[in-house]
Amino acid sequence: MEFSLIDRIRERTAQPRDDVRLGIGDDAALLAVPAGQELAVAIDTLVEGVHFPPGTAPADIGWKALAVNLSDLAAMGAVPAWALLALTLPRPDADFIDGLADGFAQLARQHRLALVGGDTTRGPLTLSVAVHGFVPPGQALTRAGARAGDSVLVTGTLGDAAAGLRCLQVPMQMDVRTSMRDALVERLNRPVPRLAAGLALRNRASACIDVSDGLLADLGHICAASGVGAEVDAALLPRSPALLGLFEEAVARDFALTGGDDYELCFSVPAARVAEVQTDLARLGCGATRIGRIVTGEGVRVRGADGRWLEPGHAGWDHFAA
Ligand code: ADP
Ligand code: MG
Repeated sequence: MEFSLIDRIRERTAQPRDDVRLGIGDDAALLAVPAGQELAVAIDTLVEGVHFPPGTAPADIGWKALAVNLSDLAAMGAVPAWALLALTLPRPDADFIDGLADGFAQLARQHRLALVGGDTTRGPLTLSVAVHGFVPPGQALTRAGARAGDSVLVTGTLGDAAAGLRCLQVPMQMDVRTSMRDALVERLNRPVPRLAAGLALRNRASACIDVSDGLLADLGHICAASGVGAEVDAALLPRSPALLGLFEEAVARDFALTGGDDYELCFSVPAARVAEVQTDLARLGCGATRIGRIVTGEGVRVRGADGRWLEPGHAGWDHFAA
């Protein structure tokens, strides 16, 4: 159905790849998986009003729908290759489709990813993207494998996307701080999947996850999968100048601990390899900050700047406690 819309998507996202034997246009795509590689696959859905605010620019929606999926491949240490896009639209709207396809294609081209098929239906605005990537057998990064004594690190900065969402919800005065506000909203709308960092962590990180639901929740997933606990130092959390410039310390800390949508990588590394990993990730541009360590036991504890453990009942932690 909706062939003209599908044609528009195909034209705007065109990306030649030898391993795509048959792309958009037939009943199924035919893809050649390289010999000796494992296929890493992931799918994530964005629903308007749930995963992005109504009024988000079509190009930002297209970018983000791919970015959140590429982030999952990054967290596995996989190299992306192909994607499928299931699109549900309230009405056929060529301008909207063009914008969406352009935003998707902008990120796809950076990683030579080919859109090889999908589905188009009518209904509330929803995008499901499935991505496929490659990883050498046995080298994928998983959530299991963190050991007591390992250091915990994160790429980039935390809390920006949650702060960007707050900026959209609470209109601020237009003044010199506009550039900070824009920087935070950009982090919400245009997350950058840390694919190069994921690759650099192969054979080095003992466990890895991307921060989509907030640091505490996602580090908690590493702990559960690895059968360990973790201690985080709030004073070590990497936070951007924009976040610290627009929000008071306690709010910025809670955004960094519990805010979602940052799509940074959180990973554990044996202590002896921390310096080497930090050097390499600094070279890749995102950097990596040591924020704590893996311990025996279970769950994540956070030490405040005063050295005391933060209470789990602390404001802003509600969705973490669940
Ligand atoms: P079918 O009824 O066989 O599923 P469709 O009309 O749904 O056929 O799709 C026709 C072709 O267009 C298929 O190759 C499908 O993968 C592709 N396609 C449909 N929607 C999209 C989309 N939103 N993005 C990319 N490819 C799409
Ligand atoms: Mg179909």
